[in-house]
Amino acid sequence: MLIAIAAPLSAQDTTKAADPVARLVARLDLERYKATIKGLTQFGDRRQGTARNRAAVDWIEQQLRSYGCSNVARITYQFPPAQQEPRPPRDTSRAAGGGKIRGLRAPTGVNTDSLRQPDAKLRALNAEPTSPGQRQEVYCTKVGTGHPNEMYIVGGHMDGHGWGEAANDDGSGTALVMELARVFSAPDVKTERTIRFALWNNEETGSQAARAYIEQRQALQGKESPAGSGKYPEPKWLGMIQHDMMMFDHGMPLPDGTMRKEQRAEADVNIEFQSNSKMAAESQKLAWIFEAANEKYATDYPAAVGPHMTNTDSGPFQDLIPAISLRENDRGVQIGNGWDPQWHQPTDVFATYNDKDFRLGLNAAQTTLGAVAGLTGATVSK
Ligand SMILES: [Zn+2]
Repeated sequence: MLIAIAAPLSAQDTTKAADPVARLVARLDLERYKATIKGLTQFGDRRQGTARNRAAVDWIEQQLRSYGCSNVARITYQFPPAQQEPRPPRDTSRAAGGGKIRGLRAPTGVNTDSLRQPDAKLRALNAEPTSPGQRQEVYCTKVGTGHPNEMYIVGGHMDGHGWGEAANDDGSGTALVMELARVFSAPDVKTERTIRFALWNNEETGSQAARAYIEQRQALQGKESPAGSGKYPEPKWLGMIQHDMMMFDHGMPLPDGTMRKEQRAEADVNIEFQSNSKMAAESQKLAWIFEAANEKYATDYPAAVGPHMTNTDSGPFQDLIPAISLRENDRGVQIGNGWDPQWHQPTDVFATYNDKDFRLGLNAAQTTLGAVAGLTGATVSK
C-alpha cells in the first residue's frame, strides 16, 4: 500500500502561506490538468497541416481567452519552408543530444499505419493527411508591471502524429503551459516581468513554428511601440522553457521487451540544457533554478538536471538565449532508447494513463510555475 505524499498546503505552515509563489502553485490542480489534456484529445493526433490541427489551434486560443490571457496573437508561416536547412549528420555512436547509450533498449519510430489504431472513430478523426501550405501557432502574454520590456517564454508543442490522440506527446506539455497561463492570468496576480505562453506547431517536423517565431520577431526585442506608449510587442527574451512529454516514467524496458505497468516510484522530471551550445553556461544556471523550484514546490516527484537537450522547440533558441526543456525522461538516452512505448504510437491516448502518470506532469507544472513566478517577481493581491 502506498502512502499519499501529496498534501494540500497546511494552514499552520505560515512561512509557506506567506510565500506568494506557494499560493500560486496551490492553484494548480490534478483534475484541471487532466481536463485540459482531455480537451486537447478531441482533435485526435493534431497532425500539422490538417483541419484537426487548425481546430485545435482555435480551441487553444478560446481557452487562453477564457483564462483572461487576452493578449493573444498568432505567428503565420509556410510549411514546408521555401528553404529547408539540411540537418547535419549526427554521431550515431551517441544518443541524440550527445548522451551515452546504456542498458536495455526497445524499438522506437513513428507509426504511419492507420490500421494499428483499433478505435474506428479515432481512426476516422485522424484520416485526413497533411498537405503543404499556411500554418499558424498561437501565443498569449502576461505583461509585467515593472519590466514589461523583458520576458520569459514558456512553451509546449501542440502538434502530434502517430494515429493516437497525442495525449502525452504533447497534450501533456501543451496542457501544462495552458494551466500556467490560467494561473498567471488571474486578475489578482501581478508579475514584474512579462511571460509569454507559446503553443508551437510543427515541432514534429523540425520545430518550424519556433524557427518562424525567431525569424519574425528576434529583431523586435525590447523595442517600445508605439514610441512612448510603454508597450513592448516583443520584450527582450530572458529565457525559453519548453515542455514535451511530461507523464510517463516507467523506467527502462524490461529484459523481455515489456514495460512496468505503473509509474516507477523513482520517477522524476528531467530538466535538460545543451552543453554543446553557445548559451550552455547561462542555460545550465537556469536549469538549476528550476531544480531548486522543484525541491521547494513540487509535491511528489524530484527533478534531475542533464546536459543533452535535443529535438525540441528550445533547440532553435539554444545559441541565442538561456534555453531548457522539461520532460518525463532524458530525450536522447531514455526516450530515444524506448522508455516510452506510446511515443508517436496509436496507444498515446488519454485512456492509457492513470493518475500517477498525470501527477508527474502536474509536478512539472508545479516546478515551472514555481521557477517562473520567482524569476518574474509574481505577487498575489487576494
Ligand atoms: Zn513531442
